[in-house]
Amino acid sequence: MKKSVYLDYAAATPIEPRVLTAMQPYFSERFYNPSALYQASRDTKKALNEARSSVASLLSVRETEIIFTAGGTEANNLAIRGVMEQFPGKKLLISSIEHESVRSVADKYDHCEIKVNKYGQVDLADFATKLNEETVLVSVIYASNEVGTIQNLSKIGELVSEAVKDRKKRGIEIPIYLHSDATQAAQFLNISPKRLGVDLMTLNGGKIYGPKQSGALYVKSGIKLEPIIYGGGQEKNLRSGTENIAGCIGFSVALKLARELAPKEALRLEKLSSELRTGIEKLRPDVIFHGHPKLRLPNLTSFALPGVDNERLMMELDELGFMVATGSACSAKNGEASHALLAMGLNKEVAQSTIRVTLGRGTTQADIKAFVSALSNLVGK
Ligand code: PLP
Repeated sequence: MKKSVYLDYAAATPIEPRVLTAMQPYFSERFYNPSALYQASRDTKKALNEARSSVASLLSVRETEIIFTAGGTEANNLAIRGVMEQFPGKKLLISSIEHESVRSVADKYDHCEIKVNKYGQVDLADFATKLNEETVLVSVIYASNEVGTIQNLSKIGELVSEAVKDRKKRGIEIPIYLHSDATQAAQFLNISPKRLGVDLMTLNGGKIYGPKQSGALYVKSGIKLEPIIYGGGQEKNLRSGTENIAGCIGFSVALKLARELAPKEALRLEKLSSELRTGIEKLRPDVIFHGHPKLRLPNLTSFALPGVDNERLMMELDELGFMVATGSACSAKNGEASHALLAMGLNKEVAQSTIRVTLGRGTTQADIKAFVSALSNLVGK
């Protein structure tokens, strides 16, 4: 049988067995609706609250600041729509390398993109000029799902709080909130919103070995959001509907395990990523690596092989059993060059010869060697 090597962990991660075990009872014997009043339901509600409290303590925030959502897309939509609907006519700033789940909802509002440099880092001077009297929300991805670059969120947070202070001095009470999509970052980086200076933060269970369609939005106390789903008032009335208890518990356990494993796993994957890069460089000295050389996720390598059609290469690798991406799963779907890569100043040809390889808990050194060897056979010089 053909061996298959999965190298697309930024797109999806398998459920970790301990997460599945924790979820299972909530599909069967503990199926109760947490809003009912009998003891069995109250126990289910207690389990939901414990999951919330666990997520809150991992972020060093209050339980009341965690809203469970159905994944990262929903959390991003809740953050952006939630704030923008509260301030009609005001403006939103997003970085030019946001995920589609931010870009698409931003399109519904008056917004402007902040430039990034060639590594995908937010251009702070451009940010400072675009942050103006009308801005109420800024959304900057914590670590890029396409090139892995990590943003200096604390610095962006400082600029936002200076602008807020300045407004206050002038008697203007309109806030500026900072939102960050930490979907890819949560596994490896510090996720304390207070330390990072963020007011709203997206977390996504499906990328951290939890269930898909699970996740949360951190919402700093005092921030009022417009609901995105109306109904029975669950999740502080922001996204009604009977809670997906198994999903929320699965997400909370996945986040806890990810945080425990983070230091060791980051080092292991960084080492494998470095072997991968060296291997690619040897077989194709003309390779162009994207993203920041140091400030990047330990598991993500994005690179272009000039003259190579990335879709074709991806298919050929798939035939040989290697699963990789041509960019983010979303931009890969519509066949267009990735907006993020273009925003980083790469030309269309380079963007369309780009492959993204993301490593995870199942990746071994043998997988990297086998991948480099397959690549060498297909496109080596
Ligand atoms: N944000 C980022 C950075 C992502 O990488 C993804 C998925 O790839 C999402 C948001 C959306 O996540 P989901 O499709 O699980 O809602």
